Amino acid sequence: MDVLLQGLNDAQKDAVTSPVSVVQVLAPPGSGKTKTLTARVAYHINHDRLQPWNIIVCTFTIKAAREMKDRIRGFVGEKMESKLILGTFHSVARRFLSRYGHEIGIDKNFGIADTEDSKAIIKRIVTRYQYTVEPGHARSRISRLKAKGTSAESFAAKSKKVDDNEFAQVYSSYQEHLKASNLLDYDDLLVRCVELLQRHPSCVSTIQAVLIDEYQDTNNIQYELMKLLAQRTRRITIVGDPDQSIYSFRSAEIQNLYRMREEFPEAVVINLENNYRSSGYILGAALAVIEQDESRPEKALIATHCVGEQPALRHLATVNVEAQWIVDEIKRSKTLSAGLLNYNDYAILVRSANLSLSIERELGRAGIPYRMVGGKRFFDRAEIRVILNYLRCISNPDNNDAIVGVINTPSRKVGDKTVKGLLEEAEVKKVSLWRLVCDIAQKRKTPTTKLSTPAEQGITLFFRLINNARKKLLPVAGEPCNLLDLISYILTQTSFEAYLKQSYKENWKDRWANVEELVGQATQMATALAEGEEIGDDALPAVDGIEQRPDTTVDTLSKFLVNVALATEVERDDGEELSQVTISTIHAAKGLEWPVVFVPAVYDGSLPHSRAENHDEERRLLYVGMTRAQALLYLSCPVKQSGQEQTTLSKFVSSKSVQKYFSQRGPDFAFKRSTVPDLATILRRPCPALEDIEAARKLLERLEDDKYPATREEIDGVDPSWGASWDDGFSGSGPGGNGTQP
Ligand code: ATP
Ligand code: MG
Repeated sequence: MDVLLQGLNDAQKDAVTSPVSVVQVLAPPGSGKTKTLTARVAYHINHDRLQPWNIIVCTFTIKAAREMKDRIRGFVGEKMESKLILGTFHSVARRFLSRYGHEIGIDKNFGIADTEDSKAIIKRIVTRYQYTVEPGHARSRISRLKAKGTSAESFAAKSKKVDDNEFAQVYSSYQEHLKASNLLDYDDLLVRCVELLQRHPSCVSTIQAVLIDEYQDTNNIQYELMKLLAQRTRRITIVGDPDQSIYSFRSAEIQNLYRMREEFPEAVVINLENNYRSSGYILGAALAVIEQDESRPEKALIATHCVGEQPALRHLATVNVEAQWIVDEIKRSKTLSAGLLNYNDYAILVRSANLSLSIERELGRAGIPYRMVGGKRFFDRAEIRVILNYLRCISNPDNNDAIVGVINTPSRKVGDKTVKGLLEEAEVKKVSLWRLVCDIAQKRKTPTTKLSTPAEQGITLFFRLINNARKKLLPVAGEPCNLLDLISYILTQTSFEAYLKQSYKENWKDRWANVEELVGQATQMATALAEGEEIGDDALPAVDGIEQRPDTTVDTLSKFLVNVALATEVERDDGEELSQVTISTIHAAKGLEWPVVFVPAVYDGSLPHSRAENHDEERRLLYVGMTRAQALLYLSCPVKQSGQEQTTLSKFVSSKSVQKYFSQRGPDFAFKRSTVPDLATILRRPCPALEDIEAARKLLERLEDDKYPATREEIDGVDPSWGASWDDGFSGSGPGGNGTQP
């Protein structure tokens, strides 16, 4: 049999080998959609004789991307594999714009404004013109409009309400600002790429297949992009699951599934029904949750694993007790598993990032290593942003925002008022802030903004720092730039460590450690980029009729900055070999799986979130979280929140039909009754300590005798944190809960 198809079931094979050009694979979590998509990419290369650069793949996680690349490397070799055009929609769009963007007037050195930059720009506009709109709302609204393809001009033309007028002005000032600073924001990458491909279809004349993972979360502009990318051959494969659509706040459109069937009537739909990820119990519980959505069509989902252990649903007295319980369970199950489980087999998935604080503290106290995904991006930490802003100034001094970010950090006695004045002056004179800085430092022209002597000296110092870096450290075209030299130059010239010590007395050491990590990442990224990995622009082949930009224009520094800007929350990848517990938001955990999963804070107000309007989507979010688990699943809810308010157990898990899947009693802890061999079967892993089943049973007996000390009270049946009403079978309002919404 074809090696490509080994280990796939019949429906998966059909999807991989389908001769039909438009294939939709719709299937529940864990049914092998991503696995199937990967195999189809390889199939296109091996059987349909496509070259890797004829194929565009949009994946959601770095793990899927890596898996895909590994497989394809096996078939076609490393050099060819690196030519596959693979990444998020944003990174694919960026590649096309870097390569051909000049055709629609995009400057070749455009930078990317990330979410933080966009917020800062809008905030400045709003303050300056004393608008009343809330900057955060304005940013999301602009983003939603762009996702629909509504430009600032067309919005202004249509807006009738007074409030809309003000917003229209914010939108157009924001666009002007981006243009003046030669920046594109995340949405622009997609919008402008659509424009490019509409006006210059020859840019995609070599593209013969487009494949998309997690299709249920595409928005309208991504849909347009998909069609345009595939316009030559109309060969598209998408995989997705409507039950896992969780990004409507980023304008994801589930309707895109049906729209695709209308616009591509040749499409075939393939359903996969076997779940290869989770134990029967976990699947049952997850299905019971999602089936409460009455509008949802019924679907088959068959567990291929044994029933395994009943998931746990626990109420604990406080947030801290909950955190303590999670940490105890990690320690206990790890010990009980006799070498089967390591720390990287555990994930704690939270609805919002701020919920992880007490858990982090407990993990730290217990000395358990962990990594955070999906909260604040590493690159968004204050100390890291300062260094990145220096790099951005050096890369493109016309980036006003980057200059504003660092002209007075560390302090050079250039006050906020001065900066504001200079910014306004720059706008009036239609020059960049950097131009004014140069004029001041070189005493060429006196600015209209009044400057104190110290401020003038400060500006001069800043000018010298950036100017010297540009002169000495930026390579001539074509030569690689030494990122490390640049970063250490910034660190020494600004006495960065001393600055951190002075500004952050409490935690400057942690912050300095982050800086050191950035240096490490820069080294790695620079090496990878030098080897043409990740964002190798050369993956886009030459096409007729379109002038190519020489590669040398995109030097290592701007590539590094682009990579940083496009690194999504999930992209941070510490390598598999480190054994760390993962803490992640549920959103960022999409597509991934772990042997053991905890979902804490399952109460109304947290999940569903108090600000969420669409509770069906919140339910799907819990479903996504639960279906990440392979063998053990724990849901928990503190009786009291940190602010002492009583909680009410989430309505998604309070009905009897759902509760029957959970073990709720503290003493009857799920894993204690488990058999380690079952676990090993579900994980398809040999357990080092278990030579055969008999030995396993014996070991388990011994382990069960030797109960884990931290849960002694539980085992004795006296759990102080255990709400009384749990004994009554828990009727829905939560133990001791008074029904107050948090
Ligand atoms: P999600 O909706 O969560 O993204 P998915 O449908 O993409 O899930 P995959 O991640 O592709 O599912 O697969 C889930 C797990 O099942 C993986 O560990 C994968 O290797 C395994 N798997 C998939 N298909 C098979 C199969 N035919 N035989 C054995 N294992 C399989
Ligand atoms: Mg998947």
